[in-house]
Amino acid sequence: MELRPEEISSIIKEQIKDYTKKLEVSSVGTVIQIGDGIARVYGLEDAMSGELLEFENGTLGMALNLEQDNIGVILLGEEDGIKEGDSVKLTGKVTEVPVGDAMLGRVVNALGQPIDGKGPINNTGFRVIEREASGVITRSEVNVPLQTGIKAIDAMVPIGRGQRELIIGDRQTGKTAICIDTIINQKGKGVNCIYVAIGQKASTVSRIVKNLEDFGAMDYTTVVVATASDSASLQYIAPYSGCAIGEEWLEKGKDVLIVYDDLSKHAVAYRTLSLLLKRPPGREAYPGDVFYLHSRLLERAVKLSKEYGGGSITALPIIETQAGDISAYVATNVISITDGQIFLETEMFNSGVRPAINAGLSVSRVGGSAQVKAMKKIAGPIRTELAQYRELASFAQFGSDLDKDTLDRLEHGQRIVEILKQEQYKPLPVEEQIVILYAVTNKYLKDVPVDKILLFEEEYIKFMLNRYSELLERIKDTGIINEEDEEIIKSGLKEFKKQFESEINI
Ligand code: ATP
Ligand code: MG
Repeated sequence: MELRPEEISSIIKEQIKDYTKKLEVSSVGTVIQIGDGIARVYGLEDAMSGELLEFENGTLGMALNLEQDNIGVILLGEEDGIKEGDSVKLTGKVTEVPVGDAMLGRVVNALGQPIDGKGPINNTGFRVIEREASGVITRSEVNVPLQTGIKAIDAMVPIGRGQRELIIGDRQTGKTAICIDTIINQKGKGVNCIYVAIGQKASTVSRIVKNLEDFGAMDYTTVVVATASDSASLQYIAPYSGCAIGEEWLEKGKDVLIVYDDLSKHAVAYRTLSLLLKRPPGREAYPGDVFYLHSRLLERAVKLSKEYGGGSITALPIIETQAGDISAYVATNVISITDGQIFLETEMFNSGVRPAINAGLSVSRVGGSAQVKAMKKIAGPIRTELAQYRELASFAQFGSDLDKDTLDRLEHGQRIVEILKQEQYKPLPVEEQIVILYAVTNKYLKDVPVDKILLFEEEYIKFMLNRYSELLERIKDTGIINEEDEEIIKSGLKEFKKQFESEINI
């Protein structure tokens, strides 16, 4: 075949002319496949990752997979009414939620729309749900305590504002209870709370909301809900939406507490989406970026330095384990991202030690420096004494003759275990925790029968509130106990013990 140069050059010229034409991209695409809450859309080459798209019938979707010849879109609404060949528009916006003080007291879905029947939200603005976490320069160390009101936590695994503390345990071990008590305890402490429910039953969530209302905690709380019956896409974005709501307050210099209940279900929702989008599955069929899924969320918890307003976001993510296995994929990931974990044990829970916190496996890596000084001083020995008790108790089971020292330690350990028990919905102010922990660590409970310890605690706190309220106020304000205060506590204890002993006849 003979090639003529003129012909070749004319073909090339033609191609170049066409090429510019091809660059004309339209921002209206076509649905080429729809099903399982996922749509594949052709012809939206200039879509941004995370951009909101609008289908012909008004349903919204979010671009998640940007591929060479099509994009994978997760639907944020009903799939019905969308069919292949429908047009899809780019909105130019990234998914955002309403924010501001109007969100307080409200129950919203993952898109921030109210679902509590209390009418529209008069929000002051919107925020995009995904944002890069605050940089190193803007952060300060964690130095203000976040009181949970739960003795075992405030004494042994203290949490600071801006910290990320994981709550991990099997099903029905009191994980949610700890977080709800912590929210209830923030009353009057200037902390706005957000409870994000992911993949739970709607009835469970409505019970939680009812409880928060009953304790007056909804005044400073927003509940973000993506129930088990909501689509995987909504469950996937819910925690980011919750975090964005919190960031609005953070930037105003406020303190925020956010509970993610729970991230196991969040990971499962994300796995569903990833498999449907045909991303390659990895360990436990989770996609390769499941670590990033949670790290980018939890990195947004922060304590800002004074120059940046001094606000904070404290995060309490929850992970559900199977048969106490904390070495599962998602669990180890989240353990490595957070600043410590509170490990709850089924065995302890069932034997009546509630909250069922395993002190040996629970740590708080940064909260110690934020702990109230008086608490730090008094509660310091509790952890080791408890560990020693557990060790001795397993030996003592063999029933051999025990020397007096061992018996004393066993008795002391039993009293510590008893005093750390706490009922749900009864958070204690830190100053009351301090006076009662003082009694146990200084062995004032030695001759009180174990089954009377909780009664002792209740009456003793009443007694102290009655007689020494100025002392309690002072501890609350200053956070320290000086020698004088200590003398007052000692004499108070002696006086109360006499009264208590005559009451219960020992
Ligand atoms: P799930 O895995 O179903 O989410 P969970 O680990 O969140 O469970 P909760 O729902 O908080 O557990 O608690 C389980 C049950 O134990 C509830 O009925 C709750 O009322 C009870 N409970 C939790 N904490 C305590 C406590 N400190 N004292 C007494 N009962 C408690
Ligand atoms: Mg729960």
